[in-house]
Amino acid sequence: MVPPLARTPEEWTEVVSGLGGRAFHGKQVFRWIQARSVLEAEKMSDLPAPLRASLADLGPGARANVTHERVAADGTRKLLLTLHDGATIETVLIPGVSGRKGDLPNPVNGSFDDADASVADDDEEEDETPGEARSAEEGARGANALRTGTTAEDTDYVRVTQCISTQVGCAMGCVFCASGVAGLKRHLGPDEIVAQVLVGRARLPEGQRLRNVVYMGMGEPLANYDATARSLRLLTHPDGIGLSARRVTVSTSGLVPQIAQLGKDFGGNIGLAISLHAADDEARTRLMPINKKYPLDALMRALRAYPLPRRRRITIEYTLVAGKNDSLQDARKLTRLLRGLPVKVNLIPMNPISDAALSAPDMGSVLAFQRVLCDAGYSCFIRRRRGDDVSAACGQLALLGAKAKVRVNRA
Ligand code: SAH
Ligand code: SF4
Repeated sequence: MVPPLARTPEEWTEVVSGLGGRAFHGKQVFRWIQARSVLEAEKMSDLPAPLRASLADLGPGARANVTHERVAADGTRKLLLTLHDGATIETVLIPGVSGRKGDLPNPVNGSFDDADASVADDDEEEDETPGEARSAEEGARGANALRTGTTAEDTDYVRVTQCISTQVGCAMGCVFCASGVAGLKRHLGPDEIVAQVLVGRARLPEGQRLRNVVYMGMGEPLANYDATARSLRLLTHPDGIGLSARRVTVSTSGLVPQIAQLGKDFGGNIGLAISLHAADDEARTRLMPINKKYPLDALMRALRAYPLPRRRRITIEYTLVAGKNDSLQDARKLTRLLRGLPVKVNLIPMNPISDAALSAPDMGSVLAFQRVLCDAGYSCFIRRRRGDDVSAACGQLALLGAKAKVRVNRA
């Protein structure tokens, strides 16, 4: 059975019909949960009392308790969530710039930007959404804004990007990644993926608004395709959280068949980020074992076939690891590999993990690498990881949590 947090309005209609409710009550339940983060049936005030009682008897939705919350100096909020079976995952809320036009960063010199916040928030691309809805009422206002262009609301809040997880750990084994080193514990259900957004959104301080969601936390989203796809449908449902599909980005290490599936299932509307990290098979396989199964040739073909809407681009993530993929020759290879593809490139100096043999290049090498890409005509940004003082690099807080537990057990 589909868990409550992962049900579509149609599935809720079926459930409430079975409980003696009317068809439209299904949509109401969906709205309470997804648009207003109200999970307790007794609080769903526009439902008839007997239906509320029957729904309450069905039991709670996915349990995702915040067991750690850290706010970095730059406002990045990192939540550690403990799931029903004790597994821990993380989600990060990254405040970006205020919606006021004058406050936007200048990407020309300011080629340093938020690694996660910026991936789905490309100001060079046409903005077709008026901001996301927190409630059904705001959803209606959002629809008005669509018609009228913009509202005061658009400009008076800080846009937040949330980074969410799709698995507990990851099986892909990328050598520079904390989640990869930890290995896969289990997939997340669609309800657990959506729960991160419901919990995260509920914690946003006044003046902040959820704007983008990036699937860049723990795990490989496309290795958990069905749950990821369902969560995408839920997050972008207009009666729910109502995110614009173009403001939701799935990041993948390059699972070729699932990239095609994602393109087919969502018509290319979901943002796509590819963790490339190397421009030749030998170097990439050393960093990312998945490259053996889906080498660059196959991956590039999948990217060319992705049904990208006009004016949209694929984000290429390139984590720079000293001595492994950061030479000028690597940069030149990258320019050749990407030729003709609508892409923007994010260079991310590697965040330290416990493997001391791997480290970020010095800033001079990073800038020189960027220069090669810029000179070849690519949009290329150096992204800093936000919230360094709270271990905001993906996988790190959950790993800290795991270590803390080990220590407690030993004490
Ligand atoms: N599994 C997916 C999404 C999660 S990882 C993927 O690999 O795309 C999100 C991004 O963080 C990926 O681009 C990944 O390569 C990058 N990343 C992982 N560990 C990192 C580290 N230590 N330093 C910098 N980037 C890292
Ligand atoms: Fe998994 Fe992505 Fe980390 Fe690779 S980079 S191990 S695919 S989470």
